[in-house]
Amino acid sequence: MNYYTHNNDDIFLLIKLKKQLTQELVQMKLDIGSKENTLNEVVKHLKYACKHDFETDYVCSGLENIQCVKYCKHCELNYDSI
Ligand SMILES: [Zn+2]
Repeated sequence: MNYYTHNNDDIFLLIKLKKQLTQELVQMKLDIGSKENTLNEVVKHLKYACKHDFETDYVCSGLENIQCVKYCKHCELNYDSI
């Protein structure tokens, strides 16, 4: 990138874009944190409210690594997390 080819309008737009993106990212991170908290609360309630019906399944991760997972058919929570 050649910095000397930019005129003042270009630089102004870049600075404006930088500020806008920074502000949007801050807001998005706040939104993500808020949604994570809400999700944690929902999961906490589901652990007790759902009439769990567990099912066992096998998941491949890699060629020889087969894992057994037990999860609820309704709320999809993992048996080990309850
Ligand atoms: Zn459940």
